[in-house]
Amino acid sequence: MAERGFLIRGARVLGGAPRDVLVVGGVVAEVGVGVSAGGSGGGGVRVVDAEGLVLLPGLVDLHTHLREPGREDAETVATGTRAAARGGFTAVHAMANTFPVADTAGVVEQVWRLGRESGYCDVQPVGAVTVGLEGRQLAELGAMAESAAGVRVFSDDGRCVDDAVIMRRALEYVRAFGGVVAQHAQEPRLTVGAQMNEGVVSGELGLGGWPAVAEESVIARDVLLAAHVGSRVHVCHVSTAGSVEIVRWAKSKGWRVTAEVTPHHLLLSDEVVRSFDPVFKVNPPLRSGEDVAALREGLADGTIDCVATDHAPHPVEDKDCEWGVAAMGMVGLETALSVVQRVMVDSGLLDWAQVADRMSVRPARIGGLGGHGRPVAVGEPANLTLVDPAYRGVVDPAGLVSRSRNTPFAGMELPGRVVATFLRGTPTVLDGALTG
Ligand SMILES: [Zn+2]
Repeated sequence: MAERGFLIRGARVLGGAPRDVLVVGGVVAEVGVGVSAGGSGGGGVRVVDAEGLVLLPGLVDLHTHLREPGREDAETVATGTRAAARGGFTAVHAMANTFPVADTAGVVEQVWRLGRESGYCDVQPVGAVTVGLEGRQLAELGAMAESAAGVRVFSDDGRCVDDAVIMRRALEYVRAFGGVVAQHAQEPRLTVGAQMNEGVVSGELGLGGWPAVAEESVIARDVLLAAHVGSRVHVCHVSTAGSVEIVRWAKSKGWRVTAEVTPHHLLLSDEVVRSFDPVFKVNPPLRSGEDVAALREGLADGTIDCVATDHAPHPVEDKDCEWGVAAMGMVGLETALSVVQRVMVDSGLLDWAQVADRMSVRPARIGGLGGHGRPVAVGEPANLTLVDPAYRGVVDPAGLVSRSRNTPFAGMELPGRVVATFLRGTPTVLDGALTG
């Protein structure tokens, strides 16, 4: 890029009154009205007309499956970070269930370096809690924390740390360096053969049920364990009304519990499974309409801290098959903000400042990312996302930049479009398209 900087002109900062934001040298240099492109001593500043657009701090995802190393046919760090930038993200946390598993300093440093090379967004590796995600022996948590990757979030996501003693030890261990254990809450015995949410629809379709209690019982145990040892637990992809209640109760006690919800659990219910289209197969499963309503309410009142995508790319052969054998998971990076706008903003449940809180500030804080989730203010790193909330478009899987196409929102009209994303002042997306 030849530009010396960017003047984002007339943007509604966090949805507020129009302001000009000057970005020079990777930081926010000026915020105000009538800011001049030459004001800080020179030309070469490119003007971005942002009239009617909303400016947010760059989005942060706590839960992304980048699939590298091992499943580069589904996604790579390079393709996944491009998808992230297109979705307005400036940082993602890469989950540990790769091949090999990210359970050593060597693997997390490899993922971290690939992220730095990509240049499209920061990649913060998540370390496995247990060796090989096997749930038996703690992984090298300290070595991963001290590595160049500086891991702070640990998760066996995809699998549950179901042994209470292992979970307790992990919580005690991460407490020493301010880390957090992110739990995929799924009681394994209660979910043997589970294919979808256990309820009316599963009964009618004759598919094996994944009961809410299998999630809620693990969350209840883990918030009690976190309180007992004085450590931090984060609950991945909360999906039931009961889980929201448990998190609300734990927070009311002052315990250090945080939680995330995915865009797909905020928008879709298990009614869509009647189509038997495996694009809707996901873990935890899509739940009932009552659960969806409780998740929206929990995100609105702050019980659920943040939106996390659980971006789970799968190649077509793993999804385009019978429901019973299809892989679980959906891509989500490129549609997350649009789903949140539709479900939470256009409905009046959240304003844009609260979206910034739930999709940038809080996930950055939970993940310990100091340079992200910062205010749009002078001197702050220019990690920024410019959104056109008036845009309406139909989701076309062929238009995704992710290597995989398994979006459950195909054919749906969604609001909003990311017009520009800046990573430390350098645009990764400009005029709605990836740069470079
Ligand atoms: Zn999970």
